[in-house]
Amino acid sequence: NKLSKKHSIIKSIQLTMESLVGSYSIVLLHQDELYAFRDPLGIKPLCIGEISDGNVVASESSAIEIMGGRVIRDVEPGEIVTINDEKILSHIVSNSEDRAFCMFEYVYFARPDAKIDGILTYSVRQRIGSELWKESPLEGDVVVPVPDSGIACALGFSEASNIPYREGLIKNRYLHRSFIQPVNEQRKATINEKLNPIKEIVEGKRVILVDDSIVRGNTSKRIVSRVREAGAKEVHIRVGCPPIISPCFLGIDMPSREEFVAPNRTTEEITKEIGADSVEYISIPGLVKCIGKEEKDLCLGCITEKYPLQIDGEKLRGQATLEEFKV
Ligand code: SF4
Repeated sequence: NKLSKKHSIIKSIQLTMESLVGSYSIVLLHQDELYAFRDPLGIKPLCIGEISDGNVVASESSAIEIMGGRVIRDVEPGEIVTINDEKILSHIVSNSEDRAFCMFEYVYFARPDAKIDGILTYSVRQRIGSELWKESPLEGDVVVPVPDSGIACALGFSEASNIPYREGLIKNRYLHRSFIQPVNEQRKATINEKLNPIKEIVEGKRVILVDDSIVRGNTSKRIVSRVREAGAKEVHIRVGCPPIISPCFLGIDMPSREEFVAPNRTTEEITKEIGADSVEYISIPGLVKCIGKEEKDLCLGCITEKYPLQIDGEKLRGQATLEEFKV
């Protein structure tokens, strides 16, 4: 009913944005115009580009480039962009300066060639690897990424530590990401089929596995056991995301608190649970530094239990109220 004939389309979208709570990046086609709008905190990405003689809108910049297009810019948080045959128009409908870009996009979700709000995901992951080495150095013979999202991180770790980088785990490219698969059995089967260690690379070595994140821990547990079976002398894990202790209520389909491996466990207990020789996570300040935005401009809800929006039964991180998002 927000799209009533009483209002212009822009006013209708504005009214819709005022009543929507949460993260969204929406593209709407109305008659011969395209409208793209993003929530006032900018939790999820959205960008516009040009292709042939037209325009394109996508949640990841890489999607535009893959189609042979050129990225023009991000849709700003709280902005409505109108695209028609002649021009691109911008309407800023939120006064709030608050931002809450999802840190998990940089750590795991976005493709490594995606630029989110001007920051290349690949570079963030490389910096995370280097930071992990600085925060938790160790002796090892080989740095092995957990593919694919651990690759840039492992490269950064290897460059900073001078420990050789080797692709010691090979991924079956025809399977989906395991943590978003609904049934546990399905997930376990996927993990077994998904990654295969190369014996010649890990045998007799002190292996440092670099992963983007640990959610339930069952993928890591299975990988450690397979790398040990392949003959590794030691298996250490370095993780590019601080411990995930709380669910995402803002768009990422994550397990419930009870299913995470990290809550109420020390790092030593997690190490034992996973069966590794050591597990170390990047710190929250370290991650924020690697992303290159201020902490206040990031959503860190799943690693701090403090969310940028009021969520029933959860802590608010102490900034904007919804009222402030209104025009
Ligand atoms: S809670 Fe975590 S995954 Fe969800 S939007 Fe915030 S940072 Fe991203």
